[in-house]
Amino acid sequence: MNAGALPPTNPSTCVDDVYQRCRDLGMRLSRQRRMVLDLLWVEKSHLSARDIFEKLNNLGRNIGHTSVYQNLEALQTAGVIECLDRASGRLYGYRSDPHSHLTCSQSGAIQDLDVELPRELLDQIERRTGFAIETYTLNLTGRRRSCIPAPTQDWRIRSSIGTFDACPAQTREFAAAAVCRTAAARWPHPPAQGSGGAVHRR
Ligand SMILES: [Zn+2]
Repeated sequence: MNAGALPPTNPSTCVDDVYQRCRDLGMRLSRQRRMVLDLLWVEKSHLSARDIFEKLNNLGRNIGHTSVYQNLEALQTAGVIECLDRASGRLYGYRSDPHSHLTCSQSGAIQDLDVELPRELLDQIERRTGFAIETYTLNLTGRRRSCIPAPTQDWRIRSSIGTFDACPAQTREFAAAAVCRTAAARWPHPPAQGSGGAVHRR
């Protein structure tokens, strides 16, 4: 596949698929557990246990904080939902398939991203390390324009070889191109720790 091409999106396309997956795993689908799953699928973002507790209670759902937390932990342990460990605490998301993330350095907002590295780059990494790569995720940091005074919600990402603007429909493609080119440009020199895409300040 060419650089920047997108892999298939989440194979689970609706919350009913997730219900079935829980049943297949022998998990009990209590009312509270369905509430948590439903909310994650409606929100389609990355939320803390407290966020989820507050949103459910604001919707009039009667559920305790402990129940929210226990269900989230059971679901993420079973691999039904994702869990991100951040400095501010754990965040939970509806997707369970491997995917990458864009994090806004201004607001901390996190957006899912599907990106596939070029096969030739993966081959180089495998030859250099002796690893057979099975899966990978990328964490990109940038600044979303909606988080600063600006008219659009585009992302602006600066790599080591240039700056990339992306319109909403092309955001994922441009981000993929940016990270692929950055990685290719740096390889085989090991990247400095924490030197991913940098924020471009105008
Ligand atoms: Zn995610």
